[in-house]
Amino acid sequence: KNILLIGNGAREHVLAETIVQSLHHPKLFSYMKTNNPGIASLSEKIQLGSYADLDAIQAFAKVSEVSLAVIGPEDPLNNGVVDCLIKSGIPCVGPQKSLARLETSKSFTRSLLQKYHVPGNISFKTFSSTEGIEAFLDDLEGIVLKPDGLTGGKGVLVQGDHFQSRKEALKACREILEIHPTVTIEEKLEGEEFSLQCLCDGKTVVATPPVQDHKRRFVDDQGPNTGGMGSYSCENHLLPFLTEKDIAAGLSITQAVADALYRETGLYYKGVMYGGFMITRSGVKLLEYNARFGDPEAMNILPLLKTDFLDLCTAIVEGTLDSLPIEFEKKATVCKYIVPKAYGLPADSPEAQSTSSRIEIGDVGAARLYYSSVDQKADGLYMTSSRAIGVVGIASRIEEAETVAEKAVAAITGPVDHRPDIGTWPLLEKRIRHIEE
Ligand code: ATP
Repeated sequence: KNILLIGNGAREHVLAETIVQSLHHPKLFSYMKTNNPGIASLSEKIQLGSYADLDAIQAFAKVSEVSLAVIGPEDPLNNGVVDCLIKSGIPCVGPQKSLARLETSKSFTRSLLQKYHVPGNISFKTFSSTEGIEAFLDDLEGIVLKPDGLTGGKGVLVQGDHFQSRKEALKACREILEIHPTVTIEEKLEGEEFSLQCLCDGKTVVATPPVQDHKRRFVDDQGPNTGGMGSYSCENHLLPFLTEKDIAAGLSITQAVADALYRETGLYYKGVMYGGFMITRSGVKLLEYNARFGDPEAMNILPLLKTDFLDLCTAIVEGTLDSLPIEFEKKATVCKYIVPKAYGLPADSPEAQSTSSRIEIGDVGAARLYYSSVDQKADGLYMTSSRAIGVVGIASRIEEAETVAEKAVAAITGPVDHRPDIGTWPLLEKRIRHIEE
């Protein structure tokens, strides 16, 4: 089998590794925006190009005689790459454009939940002009503003973090509406967040082990939000603050959403439905869906997969997930991202003078490394601009997994930074206390 993988980050590096480990011995063909040396080393052939150039992707798939495509990031999904590949007879793990609205349009998702009476929804309203906004803001105790469209994880504005007063909220809505077609305003929830990445063949939804990611740039969840500084999962496939009942609630919301999507569009959603949930006093609530694996969260769950990944992909595209036993190793994982020191800092801050810097990788022991924004030059590995390497420790207990990751991080030298607290007990205990308060 020839498999096409689209994407160039650490998420796609772990996907590439999982694909080539299949006992069906597939050949991997990779389409990337920029070269990822980790993915390139696992691929038969690579092509570099834009995720908006659907003709180039289609031509590469045809000439490579691809029989299945796996789409990593949200941009190509939003551009309709799946619609285009399906037209050429290539089944895809990843939803069509109209289904990927689950991620790209916050208003679509909230309205879908409302229309089909899916549990886990919260108070919200979508506006295309400022008319009526003030009155709705007055109805809410805490406010969150969400522009429609992809914003690279940086579009959501939360009261207390990004603005304080209702007046500021109104101003922010005006600014959002200058760029985006609509703004969805919703109630601000309090609680603990978890990621539930579910596999879906359009009818059946299967949960993978829950993960918690840490988006804040600095230790103790301080500083600006980033694409994610790291994440962890536990050996019992729960989280320290999360019960089986909470996971079941997230799964049943996702199943109801998959059913609603089919009724709404007549299309089967085939791919990953990644729910970002919050456990609140009034139960498990939905914050958002992503239409793909998380980055870093893919690095927590894919290395634990015992089921052959290509069998899983085939079941997703053929609609037979209900008859495939899917198993994950009962192990804990801790992922820590190595980032340039300037990563996540405001562009105008003096520390943010990021230039391409060389890094050296020493003995990383049992840890797995997944490359993201790095470049392989003749004299070594260079960080480019963003998150550089996902370092993953896997062990029977979370303490050991954290130690494995931390030792490997120490073996990577250069002007790098990471979050030493991710996966450690002081941080986990804070999460437990938070939920008890
Ligand atoms: P990403 O896809 O990177 O997770 P995003 O920009 O698509 O981010 P969301 O996940 O919807 O946006 O929101 C980003 C963060 O904002 C959430 O992880 C959560 O911390 C916070 N947030 C979102 N909605 C709410 C809400 N209703 N109440 C409280 N916090 C919220």
